[in-house]
Amino acid sequence: MSFHIAPVGDCFAVKDADGETIGGPFVKRERAAQKLRQLNKRDPEQPETAKRKCMCCPTMFHSQGAHHRMCDRCRQKSQPVAL
Ligand SMILES: [Zn+2]
Repeated sequence: MSFHIAPVGDCFAVKDADGETIGGPFVKRERAAQKLRQLNKRDPEQPETAKRKCMCCPTMFHSQGAHHRMCDRCRQKSQPVAL
């Protein structure tokens, strides 16, 4: 996903690649540029999940955070099966 500044009348809007308005319109281009920087801080190349090694087995899995340290299989094993 990439964002850009598009002129809207006398103003400026921040739009995504599909032309959807994400922010604005802003009267000043600088405000639109600010919004653009905010959006770009959320790096689309960097997913929120990071790969890490399971604490119970050698499996690599996508961790959703510090609380998430076991792969799905070990997590299931460590939990009583709810019937
Ligand atoms: Zn595991």
